[in-house]
Amino acid sequence: MTTLFLPSLASLPPAELTARLYSLRAQERSLLVEFLAYLGELDRRRLHLELGFPSTFAFCTDHLGLSKGSTFRRLTAARLLVRFPMVAEYLSDGRLGLTTLVELRDVLGEDGLAQTLDRAAGKTEEEVKALAAALKPQPAPPDLVRRLPGPPAPQPELPLVLIAVDGAGSGPEPLRPTPAPKPARIEPISEELRVLRMTVGRAFVDDLDKVRDALSHVVADRRLESVLHECIRRTLRECSRRRGGGARRAARPGAKRSRYVPATVRADVLRRDEGRCAFIGSQGHRCGSTYQLEFHHLVPFAKGGCSTVDNLSLRCRAHNGHEAEREYGAGLMADRIARSRHAADGAPSSPSVAG
Ligand SMILES: [Zn+2]
Repeated sequence: MTTLFLPSLASLPPAELTARLYSLRAQERSLLVEFLAYLGELDRRRLHLELGFPSTFAFCTDHLGLSKGSTFRRLTAARLLVRFPMVAEYLSDGRLGLTTLVELRDVLGEDGLAQTLDRAAGKTEEEVKALAAALKPQPAPPDLVRRLPGPPAPQPELPLVLIAVDGAGSGPEPLRPTPAPKPARIEPISEELRVLRMTVGRAFVDDLDKVRDALSHVVADRRLESVLHECIRRTLRECSRRRGGGARRAARPGAKRSRYVPATVRADVLRRDEGRCAFIGSQGHRCGSTYQLEFHHLVPFAKGGCSTVDNLSLRCRAHNGHEAEREYGAGLMADRIARSRHAADGAPSSPSVAG
């Protein structure tokens, strides 16, 4: 709907204006519950795979156009709704909102479900956070995590923020259980600059010092960002070298049929599929994921398919598993995939052959 179809609101009496807002809010809630129910069902059936998305999350962001934050909240709520259908009533009448429900994600269970929902009903986000913490105490946050002072202004050279929690220099403080580290985050602070925050262990810092020394002839300034970037560039070169590979094990004419994919074939398939999952969904969406790529045999190896460029295609792990399940059935695949993973462990940086 565009503003063209809205009636002029300028002359609407106040009572009608507020009544309409009230009714729209109610409709919005009921639409949300319906949306969550549909999303939960799509997720439960894992329909994203058939539609060409590597995850329900990717389906929400790429197909439905939701932001990552919104996707996280809606998907979390949808899964809770599948587990606890009673939640729908609380969302429909507004006793719980999307945000407050999501805050309860780790403390809801069959035991005392209604009591927990009632305790959270009508509460603010902060109050529900406190309730969730009381129901399931979290470890205290690590001491040494610091925030950057103030809103950061764009700078020509922003130092990488790397915060090590290794206990060194913390004095005579008694030992405490190590809290689970927060996942690394990359936050944009301008169009060009990002701040990387991550918690690392003592071994990481020790190795970092060694790498800094080892690369000192290349990275003279020894800046953390330069050192890490050099490491990343070298890793990418190594991956590219492995993918392109030497022709050492190229297929020989008349050689025995093998699951092994010769380096030249790997390189050709990677180039043709542009290094992305080539699964096409039932409605024409190409997955395109670059995560955990594997080589998929279009005609399965077990059914006589060969490791040739024409018979191979790139798949993300989710879609390779999905196609194998379609081909062989879910039960048989669990065992087969596990064995293939094991065999592929030797070449972790290149797509493996599992299909
Ligand atoms: Zn895929």
